Amino acid sequence: MDKKNNPAICDYEDSDYQSSFWNQGGREYEDGVEAIALKRLLPKDGQLLLELGAGAGRNTSRYKGYERIVLLDYSRTQLEQAQERLGRSEKYVYVAADIYRLPFIDGLFDAATMIRVLHHMVDAPKALEQVRNVMQADGTFILEFANKLNLKSMLRYWLGRQTWSPFSLEPVEFARLNFDFHPKTIRNWLKDLGFKVEKTLTVSHFRMSILKRTIPTPMLVLFDSSLQWTGAFFQWTPSVFMKACGGSRGSGPGNNENALTFFKCPECRHAPLKDQGSYLLCPNCRNKWGIKDGIYDFRKPDDR
Ligand SMILES: [Zn+2]
Repeated sequence: MDKKNNPAICDYEDSDYQSSFWNQGGREYEDGVEAIALKRLLPKDGQLLLELGAGAGRNTSRYKGYERIVLLDYSRTQLEQAQERLGRSEKYVYVAADIYRLPFIDGLFDAATMIRVLHHMVDAPKALEQVRNVMQADGTFILEFANKLNLKSMLRYWLGRQTWSPFSLEPVEFARLNFDFHPKTIRNWLKDLGFKVEKTLTVSHFRMSILKRTIPTPMLVLFDSSLQWTGAFFQWTPSVFMKACGGSRGSGPGNNENALTFFKCPECRHAPLKDQGSYLLCPNCRNKWGIKDGIYDFRKPDDR
């Protein structure tokens, strides 16, 4: 397969990520500090928010001021877990799709979040371009990325325990489909796409097991919270949040009553698609995109 047109995807299908990493993984600290950063960056309310890499919906309740939320993930089983948590209603639209081929019309969303997702993107600029296209011109995009320029990697590099330099601008793939990025590179990519970075927060200053074991979590979260603003000046933490303003030129219909009007064909980009009950039909290329148990599936055409 052509790698450029079809970048490899990190798939969480059938993974117990939510329970092993978040619920029993000793990650209350990370969850707590992310919640604070999100609260500081994302406008409290709005119409239509796109949650990219929503997983099992860990963050979704933090967007409750939005009239409608589209949860997107490549893994259907993660979305099923999110559905169990949030229920099926008009407020939530569940979409299984590939970020490199987003199935939404241009200029649709007034807000988007992408947290712990870019970390798995082999072609990050291509993913970010897709996000820009589906956002309204003055949309708010909250992006979290894993920072290669963190204190731990600097120390390891100086001690000779790490071969790659945390100071160079290219992303580093430290494990298969796991990438850390230089903050300057992210800023450049966002700028090239017409986004304006309005705010930068550093997060997880104290992500060290000895601190997490010895200091009570609420206290550690409070310390982190009091330092996040320093991200405006330097970014040496393993996780960085940016608030970027921008989007595509066009302005979509916003929060329309019918979620069907949100979609375009990820194959030929035609819109609108036709509702056939158990699938959406693209009248242009004739591909069928399945709908099953309240989840729209745009990963592969349905061959019924
Ligand atoms: Zn089509």
